[in-house]
Amino acid sequence: MPQKTKHTPMMEQYFSIKKDYPDAFLFYRLGDFYEMFYEDAIEVSQLLELTLTARNKNADDPIPMCGIPHHAAQGYIDTLIDKGYKVAVCEQVEDPRTTKGMVKREVVQLVTPGTRLANSEGASRENNYLTGIIYLEDKKQYSFSYADLSTGEIKVAILRSIDSVINECESLGTKEIVFGSEINQELINRLEHHNILISRHIKELSELSVSNELTEELESSDLIKGANVLISYLNITQKRSLDHLQKAMSYQPEHFLKMDYYSKYNLEIAQSIRTKDRKGTLLWLLDETNTAMGARLLKQWLDRPLVEKEIIEERQDRVESLLNAFFERMDLKERLKKVYDLERLAGRVAFGSVNGRDLIQLKTSLNQVPGIREVIEGINQGQWDTLLEDLVPAYSLVGLIEEAINEEAPLSITEGNVIKDGYNEQLDKYRDAMKNGKQWIAELESKEREATGIKTLKIKFNRVFGYFIEITKSNIAALPEGRYERKQTLANAERYITPELKEIETLILESEEKSQDLEYQLFLEIREEVKKEIDFLQKLAKSIASLDVLKSFADISESYHYVRPELVNDKENLELIEGRHPVVEKVLGSQEYVPNSVIMDQETSILLITGPNMSGKSTYMRQLALTVIMAQIGCFVPCEKAVMPIFDQIFTRIGASDDLISGQSTFMVEMMEANQALTYATSKSLILFDEIGRGTATYDGMALAQGIIEYIHEKVKAKTLFSTHYHEITVLEEVLSGLKNIHVGAVEEDGELVFLHKMMEGSADKSYGIHVAKLAGLPDELLDRSSDILAHLESETPEMTLQTTDSVPKVEVVEAVVEETEQLSLFAQEDNPVLKELKELNLLEMTPMAALNCLFQLQKKL
Ligand code: ADP
Repeated sequence: MPQKTKHTPMMEQYFSIKKDYPDAFLFYRLGDFYEMFYEDAIEVSQLLELTLTARNKNADDPIPMCGIPHHAAQGYIDTLIDKGYKVAVCEQVEDPRTTKGMVKREVVQLVTPGTRLANSEGASRENNYLTGIIYLEDKKQYSFSYADLSTGEIKVAILRSIDSVINECESLGTKEIVFGSEINQELINRLEHHNILISRHIKELSELSVSNELTEELESSDLIKGANVLISYLNITQKRSLDHLQKAMSYQPEHFLKMDYYSKYNLEIAQSIRTKDRKGTLLWLLDETNTAMGARLLKQWLDRPLVEKEIIEERQDRVESLLNAFFERMDLKERLKKVYDLERLAGRVAFGSVNGRDLIQLKTSLNQVPGIREVIEGINQGQWDTLLEDLVPAYSLVGLIEEAINEEAPLSITEGNVIKDGYNEQLDKYRDAMKNGKQWIAELESKEREATGIKTLKIKFNRVFGYFIEITKSNIAALPEGRYERKQTLANAERYITPELKEIETLILESEEKSQDLEYQLFLEIREEVKKEIDFLQKLAKSIASLDVLKSFADISESYHYVRPELVNDKENLELIEGRHPVVEKVLGSQEYVPNSVIMDQETSILLITGPNMSGKSTYMRQLALTVIMAQIGCFVPCEKAVMPIFDQIFTRIGASDDLISGQSTFMVEMMEANQALTYATSKSLILFDEIGRGTATYDGMALAQGIIEYIHEKVKAKTLFSTHYHEITVLEEVLSGLKNIHVGAVEEDGELVFLHKMMEGSADKSYGIHVAKLAGLPDELLDRSSDILAHLESETPEMTLQTTDSVPKVEVVEAVVEETEQLSLFAQEDNPVLKELKELNLLEMTPMAALNCLFQLQKKL
């Protein structure tokens, strides 16, 4: 920052404030504007497309500057935060009208991506998380915490690896991470690929004072460290009381169904791979919630499905009771629609940003509680007991708001009209005085019109002169000399005052000012009263959110005919009869969708799936994963009948997720994901491998696929669905007792391929690659040629033999000797370059598509 020349006191003040916020844009309040200077101005003017001007334009070193009107600041701040920047909002903290010399300025809030408070309706359906991380060097572990400032929830866990830290960050969609002084550089490096703002703590942790109350429930000092870094960062950035922060609670990731973020991404739980938004995801399907709190909670439940049978069954019991009570459910829906975001309203109360309208929303919401409670009490047979403990009406709070706050309260809390008549005697007196004064002025106006005979005489008001009598030039002659005192002359009118008018004006203005001040004071008192109920409101909000999600499950289960899954232990069979992929079914319609069962008895751990491309293999696998997730969040599932064990983890390798990790090849990613599964899966896990080994040469791929299957079968024993286009592997069924072949049916009708989308026992008879190419519209000529080549290759297919060594079965591929055929001899001229190229092709190392492309090129050359 250039400081060559001596600066004005104002710029000196600017520098002294800016030096504390080197990593934020400083919005420096100057009258009605926020101004930015130097690098901040240059960068912000580009980011927000503002005009860059200069202070002291004609001086030797003009100061780059840009500004925005303070009333429009929120939108600009939001844009900068969205882009991942921080904004330090610096206000004038003294009244410039009464201050001599420089007005004192202070940063009143540091707005950051992880601490922003969303106002927009869309955003409120999602949490906005800030994460705190302390590296526990001696234990090589991480104290990991996260909070949503708007709702006040704080959670802490000890995580054991960088992978789990990254998984948690991605699952939460955290916007910003704040580190303590001990950091782990490897973690920081890994995080660079993820779109998260990294904030270093400005102070050493030991210097930070954090209220013990917030961390008193935490079981260890390591957990407390993690919570402290987060809470102190919130205090430092927000600079105000944060009474709505809830006690930090510890959690253990292993107490939930674990899924890494590749799996969540692949399974499209909350984000569509194609469009990156909600549409087409499981969240989209399940979200029939009527409140923002419910929507957020649903997302949290989907992020952390349960593994404890009792808790899942408690949710199921509740869903069932709602499902069986249609009219009560409809009633509930209507009531929930009138419940605003209680959690965030409570946050705004604590934050001091609540206004009259918010309190009216709070009242409207609280007014629904008795009715909601009545509905639940009506259907309760014990399953709702614990929820009812917190679903308690707040009659006195409703009474207070009802009595005090005007239904049409404006957004501002300083300009009056917030408090109802009759609430406060003094306020009523001021209001009377204002009303009487105005009445008196109206009477004075008609009296003076009559007395002077000037029909157009008016009594007006402006901020500079207050009340005055205005007479147009053409009427001045009719005015008796000396009747009024002249105040101002305009081009076509004269303005006058009288002592009486001034007296009444003083009364009106004083009572107006006093009433506004008093209203503000009264509002603050009411706010303090509401603040006392924050704890209560937060509990109430949680119970309503939970009820809303359960109601949503009941709605969905009814609409799509889902059934309650029976949860059994992992030694029993997995039986999903006539299951459907919930999202594909919703999109296709239930008529179009072909249901498929997944049956794995105690002996079966692997289903090996073959079938043509596009026949429905990956849909079948996803269907199982989504069904497991739905069951473990307490929802009913898309089946005719479901008996299922509770899974501890889900691993997937479905589709390409290469774009998630930059700089890694598809095959590398595939192997890394496989490795994750093979390392961490247990016999209670679910593994979905879609065409693993496809990304390399045929022999490699087949060998790896077989190796992986054998390893899972012998060592991991997780329930596994493995789809492959290597038909050769299906012979494994003969030697691996826990492996069963299934395939997706397809039939040829008049040379056309018809997908049945139906899973059948045994393996597929062929791969139908050329048929799929035909469906994709490749030229007939090319397809005919490919069919000939295929016929030739098939007549010389590598032979498969089966070997068993060390009790582990092995499949060995014996290369066949390729002989020239009549077809190929068509090109039998040694010097033909096309033939040479063709000869050199390693067909066994090519994918069917690459072979087709190559053939196409060769044909073109001929
Ligand atoms: P594969 O993995 O075998 O290549 P997919 O699972 O991607 O095939 O399925 C291809 C398409 O077939 C899907 O987009 C879907 O529209 C349709 N499909 C899959 N399974 C079914 C089913 N059970 N019923 C109806 N359509 C299905």
